[in-house]
Amino acid sequence: MTGSDVSIYVGIFTAAVASALYVATYRSFVYLLRYPRNWTSPSLPESLATGALAVFLVAFVSLSADGLDILSLVVSLVFITALFIIIAAPAYAFQPASRPVEFLAKHGDYAGLWLLGPALIAGLTIPNIKLQAVLVTAMAVEAMWFARQRLFGQVGRLYPLNNRDLSVLKTQAKGDLEAFRRRHHIRELVLANGAVSWRGCEKSTAPCAFNLYVNRLGLNTAPCCREQMKDLSHYVAGCLSKMGAVHWLEGGSLLGAIRENGALLDWEDDVDISVLLTADMTWDRLTARLVEDGARDGYYVDIFKKNGFISISADPPRRWLFRPERNRMRGEIRTDIAIYRQVVSYGKTVLERCSKKGAMPTTEGGGFGVPKDIVLPTTTTPFLGGEIACPSQPGAYLEILYGNFQKIEYTYLDPAAAETRAEIDACSDLTSV
Ligand SMILES: [Zn+2]
Repeated sequence: MTGSDVSIYVGIFTAAVASALYVATYRSFVYLLRYPRNWTSPSLPESLATGALAVFLVAFVSLSADGLDILSLVVSLVFITALFIIIAAPAYAFQPASRPVEFLAKHGDYAGLWLLGPALIAGLTIPNIKLQAVLVTAMAVEAMWFARQRLFGQVGRLYPLNNRDLSVLKTQAKGDLEAFRRRHHIRELVLANGAVSWRGCEKSTAPCAFNLYVNRLGLNTAPCCREQMKDLSHYVAGCLSKMGAVHWLEGGSLLGAIRENGALLDWEDDVDISVLLTADMTWDRLTARLVEDGARDGYYVDIFKKNGFISISADPPRRWLFRPERNRMRGEIRTDIAIYRQVVSYGKTVLERCSKKGAMPTTEGGGFGVPKDIVLPTTTTPFLGGEIACPSQPGAYLEILYGNFQKIEYTYLDPAAAETRAEIDACSDLTSV
């Protein structure tokens, strides 16, 4: 073997290592994005691990036997930072975000490919095979992401919009549906021959950009998403019943069931169910069973032990390297499970959770709690075409959470959307009188 043969093999090997390091960093980064989209802060150990991988990647690309290549260092650092900001935007735009973040999120399916030109120029002008490998890998990943998002985005069936959904849509769009559709990139909204319909998501497709449409733009939950919430909530409740877990419908979902006669609130963005941990139903047993059932039935179970919170969403069983990429999507139909434990607080037996819900009072131990006898023994209530477990005194429970729960409060993240919505409902109340 000649010296040049050896250097070719060494070059291929280091390029492959650089490529693998990029994939590992990318995967670790998109995994972290599950936190903001679930309203929690990224965990410190996982953030540090991702940061360390990124530092190692940049160092590997820019260090060689000849010393530090400053140009490669700067280019790899700027490129990865810019790309990761683009990738993170949709996860952060779940909450009210700055205009640049909102802009990047809106174009999140393909914004990574905007770096194709700079990547090409850097790759052709800087003779560093490790840098070239990183640029090619990153752009290939972005191209695959784009292809998958767009291929999955086209297959759902068309749903007609009912009058209520349509009037909310028209009002939030200030009458110009076409401009509204274009401005917010609402791919699902189909306007043809004067008819308005919605290209619905399905369990096997990417979900609608749900949080944008409902929480930010103030639209009603799309019919496809309502359909999926119905299936998912009954699925999760069914799993909990089968494993013997004491559970009940929670928060806004319970409010819908009681106040809206078994329906969802118009703008519902997830279904909340609570579970009481006991000596028999421990955290480990509950999560293990849910993960096992989910893997079998095509659901993704995301576990946040520190927050006592489990998030379940549809996910066809594809075990593959890029699975955490789902965190780049702008929406997700979820059922969230919050955990309660029975404790004694100020001399009374209460069921306590660690995260705040509505106006639930604080407990002696620093959590949030409801009197045990308001919840147990649980009963059932009609919900989305079936029966689901609910607290024994649902009205008293809702009063603790929301005070006068018959009065409608809008939970949109965008105050302008909430205001418009209140006006729509005020008008329709007047017309129905
Ligand atoms: Zn949908």
